[in-house]
Amino acid sequence: MAALPPVPPPVTLPVAGSSDRFPVRRIFCVGRNYAEHSREMGGDPTREAPFFFTKPADAVVESGATIPFPPMTADLHHEAELVVALGAGGRDIAVADAPALIWGHAAGNDLTRRDLQAEAKSARRPWDMSKAFDRSAIVGPLRPDPLADGAITCTVDGRVTQSARLSDMIWSVPEIIAHLSRYVELKPGDLIFTGTPAGVGPIRSGESCTVSIDGLGDATVTIA
Ligand code: MN
Repeated sequence: MAALPPVPPPVTLPVAGSSDRFPVRRIFCVGRNYAEHSREMGGDPTREAPFFFTKPADAVVESGATIPFPPMTADLHHEAELVVALGAGGRDIAVADAPALIWGHAAGNDLTRRDLQAEAKSARRPWDMSKAFDRSAIVGPLRPDPLADGAITCTVDGRVTQSARLSDMIWSVPEIIAHLSRYVELKPGDLIFTGTPAGVGPIRSGESCTVSIDGLGDATVTIA
C-alpha cells in the first residue's frame, strides 16, 4: 500500500494586535442580505428568508496576499462582507442568545466566479464551483471586540465600488446565527460571511481589491 498523504495543516487566521491565531472550522456565507444588492441580482428583498452556501476552510486567504487569477472564469467579482467568527456553537440558537457565540469580526471578500454562478443559476445547478473555489475567501485580521454599526466599503485600485452601512443588512448578525443554527450545528471556529451590499463587480489581473469596515482591519487581495 502506498504511504498515506500527510495530514493537511490546520487553517488559521491572524488575530489583530496578537500573535495568536484563530482556528477556522467551517465557512458559511449568506446570500442577498442587503436590499439593493438583492435587487441588482434579480431578487426580491422584501420576501426572501436568508439562504446559505459554504466554502471550504482551506479557501481562506489572509489579507495582503497576491493570488493567481482563478481558472475557468472570465468574470471574477469582489463581494465586500462583514465576517463573523464564532467562539462557541450550538443548534436552534435564539436571536437573544446569539451574540454570546460571537468571538470576533473581520472584513472579508467573498470572491465569486460570476459567469459560473450565472450558468449554475440558469441550469439549476449547485454554486460550489462559482463560490467555493481555491483562494475564494479573503479575510482580514480578526478583532475580538464587539462591533458597532459602521461603514463597509470596497475599492478596486483605489476606486470605490461598494459603499454601505452594516445597519443596511436585511438580517442582523444575531438573526443570521439563529437561522443558520436551525440547519446545522454551529461550532467554535466557524466563520460566517454575512452578505454583500450593492456594487459588486469585476477584479482583473493586476488589480488590488480592499474591503474596509469601520473598526476593523482591511481585507486586501491582489490578483497576479
Ligand atoms: Mn457573498
